[in-house]
Amino acid sequence: MESLDVLVVGAGFAGAVCARRIAEDYGLRVLVIDRRPHVAGNAHDAPDEHGVLIHTYGPHIFHTNAEKVTRFLSRFTEWHPYEHRVWAEVDGQIVSLPINRTTIRRLHRIELYGEAETEAYLASLAEPRAELKTSEDAVVAKVGRDLYERLFRGYTRKQWALDPSELHASVCGRLPVRFNDDDRYFGDSFQNMPAAGFTAMFERMLEHPNIELRLGTEYEDIRSEVAPRHTVWTGPIDEFFGYRLGKLPYRSLHFERETRATPGGRLVQPVAVINYPNERIPYTRVTEFRHLTGQVSDFSTLTYEYPTEEGDPYYPIPRPENRARFHAYESLAADERPDVLFVGRLARYQYLNMDQVVAQALVAVERWAADRDLPPALREAA
Ligand code: FAD
Ligand code: UDP
Repeated sequence: MESLDVLVVGAGFAGAVCARRIAEDYGLRVLVIDRRPHVAGNAHDAPDEHGVLIHTYGPHIFHTNAEKVTRFLSRFTEWHPYEHRVWAEVDGQIVSLPINRTTIRRLHRIELYGEAETEAYLASLAEPRAELKTSEDAVVAKVGRDLYERLFRGYTRKQWALDPSELHASVCGRLPVRFNDDDRYFGDSFQNMPAAGFTAMFERMLEHPNIELRLGTEYEDIRSEVAPRHTVWTGPIDEFFGYRLGKLPYRSLHFERETRATPGGRLVQPVAVINYPNERIPYTRVTEFRHLTGQVSDFSTLTYEYPTEEGDPYYPIPRPENRARFHAYESLAADERPDVLFVGRLARYQYLNMDQVVAQALVAVERWAADRDLPPALREAA
């Protein structure tokens, strides 16, 4: 039996950030494992057979307002400026998302002068709701039924196999509504992609004398070989407990890739992502990776996303009964396994962006170390 200080299960954002922090700040020896043959979890990227850098598990765009997060990640990467733009194909027209003044002018064929007029027009369309409980409430209360039906209902039903009226308000509430012409998908102060890609950033983060990495390694297969004093678990929490309280449902995706010859470095789409809210089209969105990465190539690779029931766990499904089951697992964790730190999108069963996972991991390690009276950090917390 190999004794070790800390076992980290999962080499995605949650696992890699915890591993680096624990190894570096507390001088502990950390073994990181992942069942996949690569680091970076769902943010993994790699060149395809045409040399085009693609994101293995769908488009990942880094954006944040958290300075603590960018300060930490910037130790492991340079950045390439990129502001994300998404267009939607609706009734034969192309409009920009999130809904802004241009989107409304185009879909409703009206002139709107300035922000105040746009705001007033949207207010005239909005259906007041006493409470914003569901994703339908969240959208209809801001932009009214027509824009909801044309841009949100079909996309959401495809993505989640649920009507927006059955999903928590936070899902569609992720998209803002703008009264101006700002057509960027995100409004965050920091919008940049890792210059050499996510995988390269993870490789540097995990490169530390106190960190050992074993890829293609299942927790189940090594748990009898190692005796860690502490464990950090970033996989699904229900899996950790052998699904004892039932399975937590996830939505998954199937990706279909297509590479086109683009002589002279042309691009196929005008923007990185085109969404297809129409339910008759089986995929939800098409991404052209070179927009995101800034790579110049005579080939361009696009990926089509088909939502599925089965497959890798990608999206926790925000419904009250799932939240309740997660909380039951959380109690089990507190009662039975105080030696295990549960961090990340799967372990916390939360629909979190990458920066939120990094922030959660940084805080979790600090608390974990304080609870265990570990010697103060060796280096100034970045
Ligand atoms: P993961 O990345 O899932 O890492 C967990 C790792 O644990 C996995 O590699 C898994 O193989 C491993 N593991 C699990 N169980 C075991 C086990 N038993 N043994 C060994 N290994 C195990 N966020 C953004 O900020 N911007 C975006 O544009 C964006 N786009 C996204 C698009 C898609 C399609 C998806 C699915 C997510 C997107 N996200 C985006 C969210 C982002 O992927 C997550 O926030 C982030 O990757 C979560 O990191 P994590 O470490 O919690 O989980
Ligand atoms: N959404 C939609 N129409 C769109 C884009 C998004 O209805 O054109 C809804 C859909 O339910 C989606 C959610 O808003 O799951 C959040 O969108 P986001 O682009 O943030 O999804 P993610 O990138 O996390 O898949």
